[in-house]
Amino acid sequence: MEMEQSMTETIKLYDRDAYATEFDAVVLSCEAMDDGAVYRIVLDQTLFFPEEGGQTPDRGELAGEPVLDVQIKQGIVYHKLAKPLVPGTAVHGKIDWTHRFYNMQQHSGEHIFSGLVHRAYGYDNVGFHLSNQIVTMDFNGVLSEAQAEELERKVNEIIVKNLPIQTGYPTAEELAVLEYRSKIELDGPVRIVTIPEVDACACCAPHVARTGEIGMFKIMNMQSYKGGVRISFLCGFRALADYRQRIQVISELSAGLSAGQEMLVMAVEKLKNANQELKYKLTGEKQRYLTEKIAAIPKEQEHVLLFEEDLEPLVVRNAVNQLTAEHTGICAVFTAAGENGYQFILASAAQDVREIMKEMKEKLGARGGGSAAMVQGSVQATQAQLLDLLRKAE
Ligand SMILES: [Zn+2]
Repeated sequence: MEMEQSMTETIKLYDRDAYATEFDAVVLSCEAMDDGAVYRIVLDQTLFFPEEGGQTPDRGELAGEPVLDVQIKQGIVYHKLAKPLVPGTAVHGKIDWTHRFYNMQQHSGEHIFSGLVHRAYGYDNVGFHLSNQIVTMDFNGVLSEAQAEELERKVNEIIVKNLPIQTGYPTAEELAVLEYRSKIELDGPVRIVTIPEVDACACCAPHVARTGEIGMFKIMNMQSYKGGVRISFLCGFRALADYRQRIQVISELSAGLSAGQEMLVMAVEKLKNANQELKYKLTGEKQRYLTEKIAAIPKEQEHVLLFEEDLEPLVVRNAVNQLTAEHTGICAVFTAAGENGYQFILASAAQDVREIMKEMKEKLGARGGGSAAMVQGSVQATQAQLLDLLRKAE
């Protein structure tokens, strides 16, 4: 049942102290959802930061039970658990500090970058998404590679300066004259996150106390997005984890290609060229094989139906042209495509082959089309089914 107090906003302990990891609270309500598969719990106060403003929620435990999700609605924080908690009882909660701190590193890094972009170019961060793997921010203006690189460097300089990051609630009068990002008309107090000389922004998320704790800021990717740019980046320990992974990939590639890191691009290029050359040679071999095979077919044979393994479209076309020049009936080459399927070209020097195509479509669900002299397409059928249909058409 819902208790009276659950109508009031949850006290947000994460707002007061971003570094606290454990807390005590009283269960105000516990509601069974999805036929009792999960329970939605409201506490009088919480350290769990909910999914809000594009950021994933905190992880952790409540009364020893893992918290599956945390949402906020009209100031009330809802914790999702697999087991119920008894309203009126006291519970102990614990957040996953590693996950929280990693999120704090990303979010504080984002504020510095967005603040610098705003100051230098006047663009706004119009979209922010912080997942456990990557962080993205969308700006309503275009940045060049060089500009993004310069900003990346500046963010890291501000990290090194170890500036304080302050959070607070200015009065309505102070807010009215304060220059800050995300300035929208809000009812009630507005939480402002300030990095002196760098940025002031309305934000409800936990932040690191000093910029040095961000460790590092690294842009991973930048692409055009809705007339502006979408930049993905990583900070701190998540950047370190990504760096490790990249080194692992490069080491394996280096070993596999027997090339140092600086030679890898060239080694892959070489490999691609060699592969292209082999393909070209193989196509030539297949062409020669098929030409000889067709030449060996007695000229008096009217119809010729060939079933071949995996051939390039050009080889098939050449073969059909050779066949129709030497045989008057239906000439076709079927080349295996996937399991129990063929691609084909079917032609005739004397007969309208569109009739056969029509029948193949109707009886075997073939796809494709063409002219009276030549049709091409694909069909999911066995060789026996195709031969059966074509022999009747002959
Ligand atoms: Zn923020």
